[in-house]
Amino acid sequence: MVLEKYKQKRNFSSTPEPSGDLKVAAERAQHAKPGKGLFFCVQKHLASHLHYDFRLEWKGVLLSWAVPKGPSLDPKTKRLAMHVEDHPIEYGTFEGVIPEGYGAGIVMLWDQGTWTPEVDDVEAALRKGDLKITLNGYKLKGVLPGGASTDFLTTDHLDIKLDFQSVAAAGSRLGTGTLVVLDDATCPVGFVHNLQHFFAQESCGWCTPCREGLPWVEKILLNMEKGYGTTEDLEILQMHTEYLGPGNTFCALAPGAMEPLQSALKYFKEDFEKHIHEHKCPYT
Ligand code: SF4
Repeated sequence: MVLEKYKQKRNFSSTPEPSGDLKVAAERAQHAKPGKGLFFCVQKHLASHLHYDFRLEWKGVLLSWAVPKGPSLDPKTKRLAMHVEDHPIEYGTFEGVIPEGYGAGIVMLWDQGTWTPEVDDVEAALRKGDLKITLNGYKLKGVLPGGASTDFLTTDHLDIKLDFQSVAAAGSRLGTGTLVVLDDATCPVGFVHNLQHFFAQESCGWCTPCREGLPWVEKILLNMEKGYGTTEDLEILQMHTEYLGPGNTFCALAPGAMEPLQSALKYFKEDFEKHIHEHKCPYT
């Protein structure tokens, strides 16, 4: 029976894991075909030993493997993967804490996307244990290493040490120590707009540049998202990063708000320009 082993191993009155709807499995099995966006995910699983669970949608379920060292970004690097019981499709979005018992520990979604087989006969490849595939997951675009009021770093900075001096030398700060990640499916303009919306609301209004400048920045970014941006707006945004920069306001809120904006204008300028030239958000 589909998902029999999965169901046998778990007590759904205590675990928050999805119980697996067989109707969902049957529908997915009918509609999901190679070339039609078969789902894949990788989950980070802090069980008795930290490992990664790699799952591929096939015939309405998620074929699953436990990968002790996690997936490699280099296709030439081989990693041990242990085939485990099929999981339900609903498991592909599961994050949570599994209580004492089977698989006890924390599960976090680490990557997801679609996969495409590089062979015509997937069943035969699975039987042979030699299935070549392409994964189309999210790619890292940028990171705010110290939270919302720090400068973006990009994939060019992946090798720097995560300490105060190294991050400062790369042009950002460790700030609150809360890493915020931007993937390549998320619009950087919308992302920065969201941050500016927050900062504009937080302004106490004491200093003119902050009181007037932050709502203006927010409005420009919102218009750009809607397709009404102009090249002049880019100059105005740049100007704000200077007027609201360090030394021009009473507290650090306004300069902090400018850090993700100034670095987004530096690293993701192409995205801003696309919004202006295409008169829409290219991510929608
Ligand atoms: S910079 Fe600080 S003090 Fe000045 S208006 Fe903004 S929040 Fe208030």
